Amino acid sequence: MPSTSSTPRKAAIQSIAGRAATKPAHPNASENGGPPPRPTSDYFGINTFGWRQMRSKLPREVYAKLLASVRHGKKLDGEIAPTVAQVIKEWAISRGVTHFTHWFQPMTGLTAEKHDAFLSFDDQRQPVETFSGAQLIQSEPDASSFPSGGLRATWEARGYTAWNPASPVFIVESGGARTLCIPSVFIGYNGEALDEMTPLLRSSDVLSEKAMGLLELLGDTGIIRVYTTLGPEQEYFLIDRTHFALRPDLVMAGRTLVGAPPPRGQQLEDHYFGGIPERIQACISEVETELYKLGVPIVTRHNEVAPCQFEMAPNFEDTDIAVDHNQLVMATLRKVALRHGLQAVLHEKPFAGINGSGKHCNWSMAISADGPLDGVNLLKPGRTPHQNIRFLIFLAAVLKGVHKHAGLLRAGIGTSGNEHRLGANEAPPAIISVFMGAMLTRLIENIIAGKEAGKGAEQQLIKLGVAKLPEIEKDNTDRNRTSPFAFTGNKFEFRAVGSSQSIAFPVTLLHAAVAEAIGELTDQLRETLKRTKNVNDAVLKVVRESFKETSAVRFEGNNYSQEWVDDAAKRGLLNLRRTPEALAQLTTKSSRAVFTKLGILAKAEIDSRYHVRMERYIKDMLIELHTLGQIIDTMILPACYSYHGLLAEAASNATAAGIKSIPQIAAANEAGALIEQLQTRRAALAKVIENAEHKHDDVDGCGRLLTSDGADAMAAVRETCDALELIVGDEYWPLPKYREMLFPV
Ligand code: ADP
Ligand code: MG
Repeated sequence: MPSTSSTPRKAAIQSIAGRAATKPAHPNASENGGPPPRPTSDYFGINTFGWRQMRSKLPREVYAKLLASVRHGKKLDGEIAPTVAQVIKEWAISRGVTHFTHWFQPMTGLTAEKHDAFLSFDDQRQPVETFSGAQLIQSEPDASSFPSGGLRATWEARGYTAWNPASPVFIVESGGARTLCIPSVFIGYNGEALDEMTPLLRSSDVLSEKAMGLLELLGDTGIIRVYTTLGPEQEYFLIDRTHFALRPDLVMAGRTLVGAPPPRGQQLEDHYFGGIPERIQACISEVETELYKLGVPIVTRHNEVAPCQFEMAPNFEDTDIAVDHNQLVMATLRKVALRHGLQAVLHEKPFAGINGSGKHCNWSMAISADGPLDGVNLLKPGRTPHQNIRFLIFLAAVLKGVHKHAGLLRAGIGTSGNEHRLGANEAPPAIISVFMGAMLTRLIENIIAGKEAGKGAEQQLIKLGVAKLPEIEKDNTDRNRTSPFAFTGNKFEFRAVGSSQSIAFPVTLLHAAVAEAIGELTDQLRETLKRTKNVNDAVLKVVRESFKETSAVRFEGNNYSQEWVDDAAKRGLLNLRRTPEALAQLTTKSSRAVFTKLGILAKAEIDSRYHVRMERYIKDMLIELHTLGQIIDTMILPACYSYHGLLAEAASNATAAGIKSIPQIAAANEAGALIEQLQTRRAALAKVIENAEHKHDDVDGCGRLLTSDGADAMAAVRETCDALELIVGDEYWPLPKYREMLFPV
């Protein structure tokens, strides 16, 4: 029998118990007795070269050109690039930076970077630091090393990255090195998008153009651009690194593939908003400090529902920047946790039976203008009839977009990880519907029912209660936590997005859906205005029709209930539970039409996205299948054999000693039956792997096989393994258990 300290699992528990008692200092605190920590505002953004620094360092006309290119969503003027590069280089060198990199987001969901030194040699072969305008604007990584989903087969293998000046450059400090990161897009030589950012920027431009068209018709002037705002709430787990390292499933797949439920999970509801344990607090504070230096405005931190689960949320920003910042949040969490002996687990469902993690994407549209409209949130109810008419038509556009493209939005959140979360009884379901809250539902229903009275629109507005809308109470709208897409007072909250996902793609799809709807409502309004001269009157007519047409997508009840599943089917709403069927929505006729018509993705670019995502799903599933097989073969079965052997030996000794009562026989038989079942189910797992790897050449067939037979085979193995975990002697079990990982002593 193994002794307590000889099993890695038990040794881990002992070392973790010791570690928890040590008290790490706040990263921003001085040693005992020193001055108090610095205020955050002292160092916020010191590792980023933002607009304030640009303005103070650049010649006035260069700054004006740069600002104009960003405000109008235009490419950077090549003439000003050398000046901008010079200023950025001086700042970076003064901050101890030696290298620079174009930081971009290939279709892996992560970021990529290749570092080049500022160091070069002049005519006299003397070392000098150089950084040219050309290096700032463009670079050429090897495109063939990133997933392209067939784009390379049809076009050139080469690709290049180009600075997106809307997102400020920043310095990453890691392992003592400081690197200047230049947020960039990644495109092929014919301009095809090889990354996640390019389609997002295109979609932001289209949405702006459509929204400006509508605003012009409404009589709003002086508008430069309409941008969208995003505040992503990031959920994550922090567990001990030692436990993580002992679990091949967490290391390989990011989630536990086996693990019996602990006697206590989250049912005591004592974790949510509870005090943050000191060791975790030290880690989170350091993450925040690093993010503050990068100019990421994290303002909220709290415990989440599950044990060891937490959330951090920023102040909302321009979407294009918020997407970059969320990548920095995820990367910083992963990096800093290691310094504290912790592991940040960002998977959507790391522990079965325990709440998973999402990324609630708070989203709205806002005006950039010369004049009083600057900064106006288009989804915020206002104080005047005109403001509310504007609010209603943009609200109608969101409902229309989500109603028509619900399948597309589901595709954008379709990953192997999110599959375990959507539809589980704690996360938004796979059915995309919109929650509006009682007050707005009443208003929308009133508008739908309202007769087109001969009375003027002003009177109708007053009668409908639209003339002056009260501030919509947050409590009033926030109560329904079960909705995948909820209106929360002055923004929508897209809650179904997965915690580990890049937000770029889901938001690109949302932009596409809403931009198309805005365009259609604008056309309808233009038509209506030919007959109805009063704008308010015409808008009411248009939104009435639109609200009617999109009624099916609005749902105020419990999204977790079976009644909703039945009701949604009657309403004709899609319920796409598995990833392959969700991804198939990317290539439907209406999806293709919206992308190509708006110029967000060309046909080959859509197909590539479908292929990259399907291939990723297949790879994830195969990694999980292989990992599970190896865990069973090399860890679980050997442990079970040892324990079974112990029982058999005890029974044999007892028999030899002539003892009558030999309970070990029944125990050995029970364990033996489960071990045999595990072997059988393990063999079935091998069969699925064999089929997937050798009998399917096409991604569609392979994806279908893995999402059905593959998922079933894994569930069957897990069921038996978890039953064994509950009877095999604790000393023998090789994997850290849920109770140990989630309730560290
Ligand atoms: P919750 O009740 O869901 O925790 P909060 O009001 O604290 O909501 O806000 C959550 C997130 O919504 C924050 O990141 C916040 O910055 C963001 N948010 C607020 N207003 C907007 C907006 N107009 N557009 C986008 N995000 C917003
Ligand atoms: Mg929220």
